[in-house]
Amino acid sequence: MAASTLGAANKRRMQEILKVLWREYPEAECSLHYGTPFQLLIAVMLSAQCTDDRVNLVTPELFRVYPDAESMAKGDLEVIRHLIRSINFFNNKAKALFETSKLLVERHGGTVPDRMEDLIHLRGVGRKTANVVLGVGFGIPSLVVDTHVGRLSRRMGFTKSSDPVKVEHELVKIVPKENWTEYAHLLIAHGRKICTARKALCDECPVRQYCPKVGVVRR
Ligand code: SF4
Repeated sequence: MAASTLGAANKRRMQEILKVLWREYPEAECSLHYGTPFQLLIAVMLSAQCTDDRVNLVTPELFRVYPDAESMAKGDLEVIRHLIRSINFFNNKAKALFETSKLLVERHGGTVPDRMEDLIHLRGVGRKTANVVLGVGFGIPSLVVDTHVGRLSRRMGFTKSSDPVKVEHELVKIVPKENWTEYAHLLIAHGRKICTARKALCDECPVRQYCPKVGVVRR
């Protein structure tokens, strides 16, 4: 099939899959708890290789003690470390939270910037974290590629790559821009419930008719 024909077919298939997933997961949204863009940024940084539920257990007390960049930048690294000690890699994450708070105060007047190029220059903030902050915190269409989004997009035949940046660049060509942010929310919900890393429950899957099930081992 010619590349342009394949691209058009993938766009149509994507639309059908999105329609079904919207019906299945009308409440799909970011599951991290936060009150401000700063708190969202901190929660997303903590969520790397850790569950959102665990992060949500830790952040109420963390944000009570350090509600904003100024207070965390003036805070005590040992206290941050203690407050997040139940999170994976808490030592490195505490340093990143402390340094990023200082950078926010020094470079951005204590506010979280709303540009990718500024966000990724903060300590411990990669493209995925920046995309969550832009999409969820600022309402700027942003396509997050986490482990669920990458796995499902490969199984659905929308990419062959396991490099999140390449996957993102391929997906933005076929997901309508107005749906970039919710695409991740829907795929994460579906990846947790039906198309899990351990097993793809294709027989129960509402998008099975649109999915080529790439790499799925049927038992
Ligand atoms: S049909 Fe199977 S591989 Fe495709 S999304 Fe559903 S569970 Fe995943």
